[in-house]
Amino acid sequence: MSDCLFCKIIAGEIPSDMVYEDDNVFAFRDISPVAPTHILIIPKKHISTINALAPNDAETMGNLFLAAKSIAKQEGCDEAGYRTVMNCGEAAGQTVFHVHLHLLAGRGLAWPPG
Ligand code: AMP
Ligand code: ZN
Repeated sequence: MSDCLFCKIIAGEIPSDMVYEDDNVFAFRDISPVAPTHILIIPKKHISTINALAPNDAETMGNLFLAAKSIAKQEGCDEAGYRTVMNCGEAAGQTVFHVHLHLLAGRGLAWPPG
């Protein structure tokens, strides 16, 4: 999608601090981190929200979690623990409408989240 911030990051039109890339997935550091490790893991396919998922997106979404596992190991937070979060819609705090998995680590993470 031409007017999507994260599609532009994938295309290299907007710079990012990339930490992982494969055929289907791109991951980069959040520009406003809320934890010492805060990485956004996104599908290269533009999907706006969880609500827009189609049955044939199941593998794409699963690939985000396989990437999260690899990145957590790469970042050295796999043993201590980390959180993955995907906000859906404005009430949940979604501000960029290209689905993204937040990977948060490096500090104690309270539950329930705010
Ligand atoms: P959400 O609120 O779940 O939609 O998350 C969107 C995230 O994208 C926020 O944590 C922002 O800090 C982050 N963000 C926005 N613009 C950029 C950017 N250009 N590069 C990296 N992260 C960004
Ligand atoms: Zn997009």
